[in-house]
Amino acid sequence: MSQHLPTASAVQALPGHPFIAYQGNELQVEDVRLSQLAAEHGTPLFVYSKAAMLAALAAYQRGFAGRHAQICYAMKANSSLGVLQIFADAGCGFDIVSGGELERVLAAGGDAAKIIFSGVGKTRSEMRQALQAGIGCFNVESEAELDVLSQVAESLGLKAPVSIRVNPNVDPKTHPYISTGLKDNKFGVAHEDTLRIYQYAAELKGLQVVGIDCHIGSQITDATPYLDAMDRVLDLVVSIEASGIALAHIDFGGGLGINYNNDTPPAADALWAQLLRKLDERGFGQKKLMIEPGRSLVGNAGVCVTEVLYVKPGEHKNFCIIDAAMNDLPRPAMYQAFHAIVPLLAKHVDTPEARYDVVGPICESGDWIGRDRMLAIKAGDQLAVLSAGAYCMSMSSNYNTRGRAVELLVDGSKVHVIRVRESAADQMRLEKLVAL
Ligand SMILES: *Cc1c(COP(=O)(O)O)cnc(C)c1O
Repeated sequence: MSQHLPTASAVQALPGHPFIAYQGNELQVEDVRLSQLAAEHGTPLFVYSKAAMLAALAAYQRGFAGRHAQICYAMKANSSLGVLQIFADAGCGFDIVSGGELERVLAAGGDAAKIIFSGVGKTRSEMRQALQAGIGCFNVESEAELDVLSQVAESLGLKAPVSIRVNPNVDPKTHPYISTGLKDNKFGVAHEDTLRIYQYAAELKGLQVVGIDCHIGSQITDATPYLDAMDRVLDLVVSIEASGIALAHIDFGGGLGINYNNDTPPAADALWAQLLRKLDERGFGQKKLMIEPGRSLVGNAGVCVTEVLYVKPGEHKNFCIIDAAMNDLPRPAMYQAFHAIVPLLAKHVDTPEARYDVVGPICESGDWIGRDRMLAIKAGDQLAVLSAGAYCMSMSSNYNTRGRAVELLVDGSKVHVIRVRESAADQMRLEKLVAL
C-alpha cells in the first residue's frame, strides 16, 4: 500500500466553511480532529465550531456598527441550549416561533426583552406565556391574531407590543418551500391591506404598535430581493406613519443563504452596506433595525460525522449506506437539498473512487443524504456531512426509533458535550403501556 500523505502541516480549507479544514490528512473543527471525536463519542455525531458561529455573527455586527440595531437569532435553525447560550452571551436577541422555544431561550439565559415571537399560529396559551415573560415584540400575521392577542393581553392587564408581518410579494428565487414573501403563501398580511390593518391594530386596547416586520424566505443568495422588499416595506412605513401611527422599529427578517454547493451569497456585512445605503437615501437611517437571521449564523458552523456501514454495488448505481439518516439530516428528503459529503481522512489511497448514492438505514426511499457523489470509501470509513449546523438537529425526529445524535461544541481545543445520545428508553419515557 503506497501512501502519499500531505505534509502534516498542510492546511486545506473548505471554502465557505471557516474553522473546518484538513490539517494534514485529518479533517478538523478548530483544533480538534473529527476522527478522534468519532472514536470517543460514536456516530452519528454533530460537531459545531463556536468560533464559526461568532464569526458569522461578527459579520452582521460589523454591518451594523454605529447603528441602532438588534440581531435576533432565529433559533428554529438550531435550538440546542449550548448553541443558544453562545448567542445569548454575545448579546443577541431571539426570534421564536413557539412557547417551547421561549422556554429554551429563558433556560439558556436569553433576555426576554430581546425576544420577538413570529409565526402564523400562536395559541392563546403561548401568547399568555410570552406576555408574562415580558417579550419585546409579537410579529403578528393576521387580523384574527390581532383580535386574539389583544383579548389575551387585556385579560392579563397588559399591552402586547406588536409588529405586523407584511408580505412584500417579492420572489426570493429560492426553493418554493422556503420562499415566504410571495402573495400566495400563508405568511404575513397582503401589502395592499397593511395600512388598514395597522389602523385597526392601533384601536385595539390590548395592543401597542411598535414596529413593522417582513421575512421573504430562506437560503437567499442575492441582494436584489432584499433591496426590493426594503423599498416596498419603506413605502408602507411612510403611509403608516403619515396616518399617525409611529413605528419604533423596522424588522427585515432573516433568510440570508450559505454556501452549500458553490452558492455565493453576499457576506452579511456587504449585504447590509447596500441595504443601509438605501435606508439612508430614503431617510430612515436613524430608525431602530431588527433582523432575524437563522441559517447564516449556524449552518456552516456544523458538520455531521457518520460512518459507512455498507457499500452496496447495484446494477445502475452504487449505494453507500451510512449510519446517519433522514431523521438526523432531513433537508435532502424534505427539499431535495444538497449537503457536501467529504471523508474525515483526505487520502484513501487504497480504495478506488466510485460514484455513490449516499443513503441512510431508514425504510423510506426518501432516505438519501447525497446523490451521485464520487467517493473513495469502504465500510468502516467515516464521512462528514457539511453545512449541518442549521435545520438538521432542530428538524430531527425519532423515526424508526432512532435516537437523536450527540452534539459537541468545539471551542479551540476544548470540546463540550451539549447533547448526549438519546436512548430508546429516553424515547419511550413519555409513553404508557395499556393495562390489558
Ligand atoms: C425561519 C425564519 C427566519 C430565519 O430564516 P433563515 O433563513 O434561517 O435566516 C427568520 N424569521 C422568520 C419569521 C422565520 O420564519
